[in-house]
Amino acid sequence: MRPLVAHIDLDALRHNYQLACRCAPQSRSVAVIKADAYGHGAVACAHALESLVPAFAVACIEEAIALRQGGINKPIVLLEGIFSADELPLVDRYGLWTAVHSAWQVEALTAFSPSQPIPVWLKVDSGMHRLGFDVHEAQTIWQRLVDAPQVTALHLMSHFATADASDGGYFNQQIQRVQALAKALDAPLCLANSPATLAWPAAHGDWNRPGIMLYGSDPLEVANDTTRQLRPVMSLRSEIIALRELDEGEPVGYAGRWRAKRRSRIAVVAAGYGDGYDRHAMDGTPVLVNGQRCAIAGKVSMDMLTIDVTDLKAADIGSEVVLWGAASTGEVLPVDEVAGYCDTISYTLLTGVLPRVPRRYQESLV
Ligand SMILES: *Cc1c(COP(=O)(O)O)cnc(C)c1O
Repeated sequence: MRPLVAHIDLDALRHNYQLACRCAPQSRSVAVIKADAYGHGAVACAHALESLVPAFAVACIEEAIALRQGGINKPIVLLEGIFSADELPLVDRYGLWTAVHSAWQVEALTAFSPSQPIPVWLKVDSGMHRLGFDVHEAQTIWQRLVDAPQVTALHLMSHFATADASDGGYFNQQIQRVQALAKALDAPLCLANSPATLAWPAAHGDWNRPGIMLYGSDPLEVANDTTRQLRPVMSLRSEIIALRELDEGEPVGYAGRWRAKRRSRIAVVAAGYGDGYDRHAMDGTPVLVNGQRCAIAGKVSMDMLTIDVTDLKAADIGSEVVLWGAASTGEVLPVDEVAGYCDTISYTLLTGVLPRVPRRYQESLV
């Protein structure tokens, strides 16, 4: 069998969720498991969390129905609401909660007759300028929804553009706008994503919405004592499948991007962009071989990548290679660090792991 496996540590997932709860003891934390739980497998992650969480959040009704069909009974919030009015009977049938961000959604909802009122999170645009009503529209819509028999448990929801940055200037503008509105309406709030959960207690509302931190990635620009307690959930592990010695000056891989500066030992690893490993990974991108750091040498191919193991005499065929996450010996290569070498963020690496890579679920990895 091909040795590339995404090991998913469900114990670490629960640990990270509980850390989010400890950061915000006055809030309830909905576990965001959209995009197949950021690539980790939504049904398995939801089962691991179900006894701990009051609710889950997903991006669309297809994701919510997959959870219901997978046996998940806790409330599920649709973060972008419905995409067409004909989804409302399904929202009703599956007992979902929904965001409302646009006038047409309000019209559809108030024209619908659900079997029981639907919990609604009214989305206000406090400065992200993506989804939601502006602050003035939101006042009128709020009143309409308060009066609508189709609606229950109405909350205000907003999303931050810069909660990860250590400069709180724009974040504070957003929070002032939304808190002034909430005060005027006497509305319960749902604001905080992972960085706001971790770093901005002022943003903690009745509900928070941590996502990426549940999977062990640190979303903050500058790590702190709390984020250092996060544990990686996905460990993407493979093995060395071939080794070769190269003379000084010899190139490796497509276009010969990497060239040996000395006599070098190169290992071939079973993992490539056809698995979702980022092709933008530069020479020097770290990997762990038997728990020790080595570096990518040469362009990532579809099914393989090449690393320089000249200084690691013990590297051999079958040696464990960790692309990110924890080695079986316990050393950790943070996905955030790998993302930095790929000019991207942990979110794209984790959600980018393709179906070809088997997910293997364990209660504890190390
Ligand atoms: C994805 C998402 C979140 C979670 O964000 P993280 O940065 O992963 O914590 C929260 N709220 C909304 C509206 C989202 O779309």
